[in-house]
Amino acid sequence: MSSPTPIPPGLPGLPGLPGRRPRRRLRTALGAALVATLAVGGALGGPPARPAAAREAARSSPTVAEIRARGEIVVGAKFDQPLFGLRDATTGEVDGFDVEIARLVVREVFGRRVARNIRFVETPSRTREDALTSGAADLVVATYTITPEREAVIDFAGPYYTSGQAILTRKADTAIRGTADLGGRPVCTVSGSTSATNLTTRVPTAVPVLVDTYSECVTRLRAGTVDAVTTDEAILLGYLATEPGAFRLAGSPFTSEPYGIGIAPGDPALVREVGTALRNAFRNGSWTRAWKRTIGRTGAPVPDPPVATSRQASRV
Ligand code: GLU
Repeated sequence: MSSPTPIPPGLPGLPGLPGRRPRRRLRTALGAALVATLAVGGALGGPPARPAAAREAARSSPTVAEIRARGEIVVGAKFDQPLFGLRDATTGEVDGFDVEIARLVVREVFGRRVARNIRFVETPSRTREDALTSGAADLVVATYTITPEREAVIDFAGPYYTSGQAILTRKADTAIRGTADLGGRPVCTVSGSTSATNLTTRVPTAVPVLVDTYSECVTRLRAGTVDAVTTDEAILLGYLATEPGAFRLAGSPFTSEPYGIGIAPGDPALVREVGTALRNAFRNGSWTRAWKRTIGRTGAPVPDPPVATSRQASRV
């Protein structure tokens, strides 16, 4: 995708607004929220990019050699999350910020030939670690929060973006203004997500309803069988942009969710390469172009790319 295209069509089963841009008020709110989430936890990156020759010398990843020889890479993504990872049922194309990040990292680390042969597979939240450890996916780029529990099982490069958990409710339901109003109410989120863990620990009085995908939660919210959906604000803003008349955000984000690229364990050279590719993307404008081509279509102002900090440098 090389030029701006209309906002993504509705999800399967959602009314959606193909090609229609959200109203200005939503755009402003969306922009402010996305910029704010970046500002909260968005200090990303690492040491300065190495020259190409040095990178080549440091590249001793067995996975890179294997995937280059294979000529194809399998990337786990979300297929039902507008703005981050959304599959068009008609064309089969996957689109979103995570997809763009995956494309630019693959191009830099594995080369153009592999980048022309990315096979995206759907990795719902609870399947991501297994997809990596079983070899079903080479990388996972799927609104995937870096956590110590997950780092015990797989590796991460990044973060390349930071969001925070928030609440989506029906527009007409004015009684819900934040986590304190969720007591005794059915609240939908997804199995295997940090959102589910955070809901149980931070809002123990809510009644959790766990399903496999966030679009299923949104379907239930619209149908009235749950009173709220909780997950990262960035994900909720995608549904809000798709159906601005139906829903609203209640309150402010209450966690920090730094998104990383999931990598199968055992290949530290690959983790370094992916980290370097991300830092280069922050600096050379490709992170910003990825933003403009996806989230930017909502009219959200373009934030600065993540910046290097010494804390982050140690990760990648
Ligand atoms: N970022 C959170 C997580 O990785 C919630 C979003 C998701 O499930 O993809 O669990």
